[in-house]
Amino acid sequence: MLIEIAPPLFDVYLDIRYATADNLTGAPLYRRPLCLLRPEAAEPLLRAVALARGLGYRLRLFDGFRPVEAQWSLWRALPDPTYIADPMIGSCHSRGAALDVTLDGIDGHPLEMGTGFDDMTPYSHHGRIDLDPEAQRNRALLLGIMTAAGWTHYPFEWWHYQLPNPGRYPLLSDSAAGGRMRWK
Ligand SMILES: [Zn+2]
Repeated sequence: MLIEIAPPLFDVYLDIRYATADNLTGAPLYRRPLCLLRPEAAEPLLRAVALARGLGYRLRLFDGFRPVEAQWSLWRALPDPTYIADPMIGSCHSRGAALDVTLDGIDGHPLEMGTGFDDMTPYSHHGRIDLDPEAQRNRALLLGIMTAAGWTHYPFEWWHYQLPNPGRYPLLSDSAAGGRMRWK
C-alpha cells in the first residue's frame, strides 16, 4: 500500500503537475493531485525535509507515484528512454519509489535550477558547467540534501530522485494502488 505525502506530517509544498495540463503532454495524466509513495520512502523524505528546513528551504514536489496507465500516456507523448521510462520495462514512479522535486526559498518561490521541471533536454542533466552559477549551486544543494537523506539521483534529470534498488518494488496500476489517482 502507498502512503500519502502531504502536510502536516510531511512539510512539503505540493505542485503535482501531472494532475494538471501544465506538463509535456498538455493534458492531465491523472485526476487527483496526490503524491503517493512506498512506505519505505517516508524516512528518507522526512530526513530531506529536515535537512532542507535547517538551511531555510522547503521541498516542492511535482510527482510521486505515477500509475502504469499514466506512464503509457507520457511515453506516447515522448518515446525517448533517456527521459521517459519505457512502460514495458516500467518507471520507478510506477513502483511508488521515485520523486520529482525541487527546492523553494523562504519566500515560497522555487529556486533557479537552469531549466524547468520536465525540460527533457541536455540542459536538465547533472554536472553541467555552462549554466548560470546560481543554478549550478542550487542543483548541487538539492543533490546534496536528497542524497544525504538516502535518495539516489538520475544523471539526466536534476529533479528526479529514487529509492535505492527500486526494481525490488512492484509496478502498480491505479487500481492496484487503490484507485486513488483516478486515472481516466
Ligand atoms: Zn521522475
